[in-house]
Amino acid sequence: MLPGYDPNYDDEASMKLLEQLTTNAYEAQQQVLEQILAQNVHTEYLRSFLNGHSDKKHFKEKVPVVNYEDVRPYIERIANGEPSDIILAHPITELLTSSGTSGGQPKMMPSTAEDLDRKTFFYNLLVPVMNKYVDGLDQGKGMYLFFIKPEIITPSGLLARPVLTSYYKSKNFRKRPFNRFNVYTSPDETILCPDSKQSMYCQLLCGLVQRNEVLRVGAVFASAFLRAIKFLEDYWKELGCNIRTGHVSDWITDPSCRNAVSLILGKPRLDLADLIEHECGKKSWEGIIKKLWPRTKYIEVIVTGSMAQYIPTLEFYSGGLPLVSTMYASSECYLGINLKPLSKPSEVSYTLLPNMAYFEFLPVEKNSEVAEEIQCVGISDQNGTCKEDRKERAEIVDLVDVKLGHYYELVVTTFTGLYRYRVGDILMVTGFHNNAPQFRFVHRRNVVLSIDTDKTNEEDLLNAVTQAKRLLEPLGFLLTEYTSYPDTSSIPGHYVLFWELKMKGKDDLPELENAIMEQCCSIVENSLDSVYRRCRKKDNSVGPLEIRVVIHGTFDSLMDYCLSQGSSVNQYKTPRCIKSEEAIKILDARVVGKFFSKKVPFWEPFKLQTK
Ligand code: AMP
Repeated sequence: MLPGYDPNYDDEASMKLLEQLTTNAYEAQQQVLEQILAQNVHTEYLRSFLNGHSDKKHFKEKVPVVNYEDVRPYIERIANGEPSDIILAHPITELLTSSGTSGGQPKMMPSTAEDLDRKTFFYNLLVPVMNKYVDGLDQGKGMYLFFIKPEIITPSGLLARPVLTSYYKSKNFRKRPFNRFNVYTSPDETILCPDSKQSMYCQLLCGLVQRNEVLRVGAVFASAFLRAIKFLEDYWKELGCNIRTGHVSDWITDPSCRNAVSLILGKPRLDLADLIEHECGKKSWEGIIKKLWPRTKYIEVIVTGSMAQYIPTLEFYSGGLPLVSTMYASSECYLGINLKPLSKPSEVSYTLLPNMAYFEFLPVEKNSEVAEEIQCVGISDQNGTCKEDRKERAEIVDLVDVKLGHYYELVVTTFTGLYRYRVGDILMVTGFHNNAPQFRFVHRRNVVLSIDTDKTNEEDLLNAVTQAKRLLEPLGFLLTEYTSYPDTSSIPGHYVLFWELKMKGKDDLPELENAIMEQCCSIVENSLDSVYRRCRKKDNSVGPLEIRVVIHGTFDSLMDYCLSQGSSVNQYKTPRCIKSEEAIKILDARVVGKFFSKKVPFWEPFKLQTK
């Protein structure tokens, strides 16, 4: 299932493998399902549906399509010490904490030792695809800014941590293609540094010192790359000083990180320090990437899905370099790769690799996606639960049976204990590579706000706003309407809520006290889920939440605008997230007060409940 070859040298063999896999997509999928079912038919979970049968017909008829809530009890039992074989024949070696949350805490996906090889196989295939489109990448280095995140130990002794932290800490990462030839500017020690500030500083320092060798730069998501630029804005003088003196700042105390960086920094380099200070000292940072790393051919960051909001800012800093989204993956399993990495961000499609998992697709009516196209209306489901019901009844289809131009929600059956699991992503079929379909990532189901890896849905937002407005009610203030948008005009971006307030019994605007409104901002933040609060407190990847109070009648104007854009009068509901610039302008023109959260919200690594 995972054919062997040497990714360090053999681009041709890799491309051939890709051709074979995509040509034999149907056979690969059959084989994947057969293998998963044969291995796991006697687990408690599958036994309850299949009663010992392991054929596809029984699987399709009896195993239900599920959400996280359905499998959560099994995963928690494993986290609390029961054997893995309640869901999986192979031992579960760790739990991967997703940025999707359930009950305010990260969802946990099971993982196995063997799965690391599957991920490695996936990463290795990205190399020849890139080499096919960009020449000479072996003539220099990659400056990739990667970070690890906190991990916890479950009561059963399993590690629970994000999928990338797990991968970066693995031997497979150390042994990744070409790493032994020092082709990445960040030493592994700087990536593995648990202090994210030291890690960022050291990676940028190493990247600057090796600037003439850098051919490509990147991070996983666009938001992380922009955070690095912001960090550079704040620290370029100190970085320049370290390069000038050949001495790493004393606050870099992580020993292995410090050693690794000192080796790269070497002797004082006055010319280099002058050049960095000259470029960074300029008023405008337009095109700074090209100026600091002049040989860069592209920026590798995911700019599809919610990350598309960062494209204009990236373009400003990049000086016209291509933005390359190479892969589509999740904590559940790795999914697809972009076979045309230089295509425009709006045209990026991912080809799902048919040996990664067994993929199924729940058809989604295009009309339910129109909401996003109208933009004004946000991405919520206008038809409420009806759509969900219809989707459950709609026939689920296999990978090779999806139709061009149609929309689907992705369902996966993995090698790691998830069976017919709804990932929550909506995809659209844009074409085929051989017999394997290619998909545009449309959006994540029911996410209204996202700045970094946080994913806030309508319900979370409503709950947080409800908590905050309790503070206002005793003062005789009424919150009559609200909506939101992610403001990414500065780094890091932040959530903006528009609130229409009035006094009880009359339409007058209340007198707004800064302290009270700032407290409202804090209550909202403390009521959002733990991934949001981690981004705010630990990662600094989301800025303080803002409430903009608007005058009475503002939401009527918003409704008029939305109706003029095609929303139906009968079905109109206030969008809880605004995407259209025009609609934001309408709201902004009626703002009478802006308030920011002054406190960092509470966050600590989540704890599992022990029984
Ligand atoms: P996590 O479970 O935290 O690993 O997040 C996985 C989710 O991130 C996916 O299900 C998608 O919603 C999103 N995601 C991952 N890769 C991409 C991509 N290339 N484009 C858009 N969204 C992505």
